Amino acid sequence: MNELDYIKENALRIIDEVCNAKAKYRSSSDKLDIMAVTKTVSPEAVNTAISCGITLLGENRVQEYTSKKGSYLPTARVDFIGHLQSNKVKYIIDDISIIQSVDSIPLAKEINRLSLAHGIVKDVFVEVNIGREETKSGVLPEMLEETLFNLSEMRNINVCGLMSIPPKGSPEKFFSQMNELFIDIKAKNIDNINVSVLSMGMSSDYITAIKHGSNLVRIGTALFGARK
Ligand SMILES: *Cc1c(COP(=O)(O)O)cnc(C)c1O
Repeated sequence: MNELDYIKENALRIIDEVCNAKAKYRSSSDKLDIMAVTKTVSPEAVNTAISCGITLLGENRVQEYTSKKGSYLPTARVDFIGHLQSNKVKYIIDDISIIQSVDSIPLAKEINRLSLAHGIVKDVFVEVNIGREETKSGVLPEMLEETLFNLSEMRNINVCGLMSIPPKGSPEKFFSQMNELFIDIKAKNIDNINVSVLSMGMSSDYITAIKHGSNLVRIGTALFGARK
């Protein structure tokens, strides 16, 4: 089978599985998005996934994104999901829809500053290091509320979701902790904080994540094959 047929088959299978998981675990009014994670993947392969109906893309690297973005089908929405250095926000602020990987106050400040300068309000998610892993970015769960209070003062960013990459191995416990945080934060009704998306679940665990409240799953390997 050629590469593009392989991706097409994967895309249709994943859409079907997500649909079934939604029917099984969630209410029909819940929204649920599938993101294609594009790191190392050719624009042609990415466009195949878009043609199959996976119209949300996730970018990890600024330079890779800026070199590929002109080749993507225009129907796609592109979010940023990788660790982002403050000095690189300027390269993505206009084209990226949602920056899902806000993991520090200085980064949020820079997004807010540039958004004000560009006359926009930027949608962002806060990344939570739910497994408290030293190798991962994200705010620690016990710091989330304080971080959100800080972000709520920044009028040119709109916090509309939480994102997490739980530790390998036992994701179920961490997905359920993330879901609790998500529900808690919504209930607190913090001014200017409007979280409605819980972004978690990757190739090996997206069905489990949906079971535990995810409404945005980010899929790379299961869609495009192992990264080169
Ligand atoms: C690479 C990546 C994914 C997708 O991982 P797979 O296991 O290949 O599906 C999801 N989220 C983030 C933030 C990533 O960097």
